[in-house]
Amino acid sequence: MYSHDVIIVGGGLAGLRAATESSKYADTAIISRVHPLRSHSGAAQGGINAPLGNAGEDDWEKHAYDTIKGSDFLADQDAVEIMTKEAPERIIEMEHWGCPFSRTKEGKIAQRPFGGAGYPRTCYAADKTGHYLLVTAYEQVVKRKIKVYSEWFVTSLIVDNNSLKGLTAFDIRTGDFEPFKAKAVVLATGGAGWLYGKSTNSMINTGSGMVIAYRAGVALKDMEFVQFHPTALYPSCILITEGARGEGGYLLNSKGERFMQRYAPKAKELAPRDVVSRSIQKEIDEGRGVRNLYVHLDVRHLGREKILKGLPGIRDIAMDFAAIDPIKEPIPVQPAQHYTMGGVDCNSKCETRIKGLYAAGECACISVHGANRLGGNSLLETLVFGKIAGENAGMFSSSLEDGTQNAEGIIQAASESEKKRNSGLMEGNGDEDPSIIREEMRALMVDKVFLFRTKTDLEEAKTKLTGLKQRLKHLRAISDCKIYNLDLIRAIEVEEMLDLSEVIVTSALNREESRGSHVRLDFPNRDDLKFLKHTLAYKTPDGLRIEYSDVKITKYPPEERKY
Ligand SMILES: Cc1cc2nc3c(=O)[nH]c(=O)nc-3n(C[C@H](O)[C@H](O)[C@H](O)COP(=O)(O)OP(=O)(O)OC[C@H]3O[C@@H](n4cnc5c(N)ncnc54)[C@H](O)[C@@H]3O)c2cc1C
Repeated sequence: MYSHDVIIVGGGLAGLRAATESSKYADTAIISRVHPLRSHSGAAQGGINAPLGNAGEDDWEKHAYDTIKGSDFLADQDAVEIMTKEAPERIIEMEHWGCPFSRTKEGKIAQRPFGGAGYPRTCYAADKTGHYLLVTAYEQVVKRKIKVYSEWFVTSLIVDNNSLKGLTAFDIRTGDFEPFKAKAVVLATGGAGWLYGKSTNSMINTGSGMVIAYRAGVALKDMEFVQFHPTALYPSCILITEGARGEGGYLLNSKGERFMQRYAPKAKELAPRDVVSRSIQKEIDEGRGVRNLYVHLDVRHLGREKILKGLPGIRDIAMDFAAIDPIKEPIPVQPAQHYTMGGVDCNSKCETRIKGLYAAGECACISVHGANRLGGNSLLETLVFGKIAGENAGMFSSSLEDGTQNAEGIIQAASESEKKRNSGLMEGNGDEDPSIIREEMRALMVDKVFLFRTKTDLEEAKTKLTGLKQRLKHLRAISDCKIYNLDLIRAIEVEEMLDLSEVIVTSALNREESRGSHVRLDFPNRDDLKFLKHTLAYKTPDGLRIEYSDVKITKYPPEERKY
């Protein structure tokens, strides 16, 4: 059995920042299914928001207002205030740790406009911001000699009497299954984009940490709010950053019309993502898409120099994956799943209802994004709340007296039962393949639970998901190979993903209104009277239970959202 005071699950930006902070107070380790530098944070392109005011007047209150308006007033305003007040400190910290941000002529950190923001507020490092931030944060972990269990897969939390005792995991390289004892755990496991067949996310974003918490009794909050990014490359769905529009790129339909002028006359291409995604989809659905499949993102007018300097990664992606040079041709783009606004229910201290369990980053729902996240706010959330989660977990674990965690028996028993569950998968004698079930589920989520939703579609999705869950009981035998058993991981994942999809669909069915990214064609208006509420989905022995909790409003009462 391994033992640490604090275990951080996840080596992305939120996990690395949490570990750096926690290590000030307690013995801390990171467990990550991939090497930290391969975490999905490294794929972030456009930038990170902070009201530095380097490109015009700005302050935390303007940032807070834009974030709350962007969230369609579902964000908890106390949490947004924390995030926007702390933003400059976190950026300067990263700068001092060596992050090579792009610069203004005067040498200040450069800031570009992003959707839904009233001011150019997005700090960036060309169009590879996530990569540079991740490397910078990882260096701090190396410097502090924090133990990293790289390529270990966490399968469950061990909880006794509502108190965290540890977790179970296996070493992907050897197949060794081990329990870990811990006084506190921070979940920083990222998003769940891979639930959708069309997604900008990588295939490791299966929402694993969310399900682990859900199965341990923590609610999943606001899971119906799934962000669809307007500009994913056609057909691969690799992201083309909002920074391309921030730099001045236009969206054009098959007639060459700059159609965003009709949908958001003021903000145009820089309206929030939910607005732009729906507008693109409408153009395509109403026959004004190029080949009825996509629209064009045109950056040619920016000129070669600006594209090479500000958007080099985008150019590479378009050339490598669509054989298009954006200097000479417009880029084919379509909406695709991009971000999970919902997640593990926790408060602004990153605490969950289980003592000793915290969550931060995309897997958490604190909630700073509400019904729609503004571009650039997610990287910020990972740093602000990663630090808070690490600090609170570290302080909590150091406050526990030795001996209060005498839970070896409980941990061993939980570990044996998890081991049995996994080896049970290797004894299957059915004929169902986990990857076929997964692909059917991912296609279903695009078909029935995408940008525009209806009761009929959602009910159909729910019935089909139940059918897929039934088929899971008849899996073929999973490989018993010890080394890099990806067959086992895929089988574990598909069960987790089906649980999560069920939560998304049920939460979406119950929310009979349209707000932010969640659009119900049968309930087209926002309904503050009934639904200015967070959805809480609990796993119970009798099935999924939905409850609601109040949204925290401090000084920005809900208003009509116009762009
Ligand atoms: C293509 C793309 C571009 C983006 N660009 C921007 C941007 O410009 N600005 C912005 O603000 N946001 C952006 N985002 C969103 C932002 O990048 C992410 O929300 C953020 O980086 C998530 O960080 P994280 O630390 O929460 O999770 P991740 O970086 O995804 O890390 C998750 C970690 O959890 C580990 N893990 C998961 N499950 C397990 C398990 N069961 N056992 C062990 N380890 C596990 C993984 O190994 C990984 O280390 C972008 C997203 C995408 C997809």
